[in-house]
Amino acid sequence: MSEAASSRGLRVPLERLQRLEPIRYWQSSVRALDLQQAGSLRVGGVSVDDEELVEIDLVLDRVSEGVAVAGTLTTQWSAECARCLCLVREEMIAEVEELFEEREREGESYLLGEEFLDLEPMVRELILLELPIGVVRCSKAQECENLAPEYLSEDDSEEVDSSPPKRDPRWAALDQITFDD
Ligand SMILES: [Zn+2]
Repeated sequence: MSEAASSRGLRVPLERLQRLEPIRYWQSSVRALDLQQAGSLRVGGVSVDDEELVEIDLVLDRVSEGVAVAGTLTTQWSAECARCLCLVREEMIAEVEELFEEREREGESYLLGEEFLDLEPMVRELILLELPIGVVRCSKAQECENLAPEYLSEDDSEEVDSSPPKRDPRWAALDQITFDD
């Protein structure tokens, strides 16, 4: 896919909605790179890589205020597992239910152009809102949890606690074993 073809996927010709039988569906696929003019798609350690595809699947409707847009955005984000540092890559789906108006209202609607509806600001914003916030852990639960003691947070290690350390329940059987000299 050429760069131009990819970014065209973000510009919906309004002519489609002005026909006698409007073409309301808009499906396109753009590279995350085309959404990065206003900065990278990253929240903390979680990001959508440049070459990831964003699948755009929308229905557009003319309404009295402008154009209503509904549907989904699908892509993949990636991050490092906070414990074992392996790469975590997961699909995310952002729901779309937005309004485009001739005069955009910040936080309320997006700008409706004269000939095109530019999806870029909306797609970008909705993806950023959908990225997970906070600590990401991989799903290789067992291998990853075995690493846990070395990655205890500072809070845990500073805690003064005289009770016996919490044991991994899987090792409870070991408690039954006694060693006699
Ligand atoms: Zn992990």
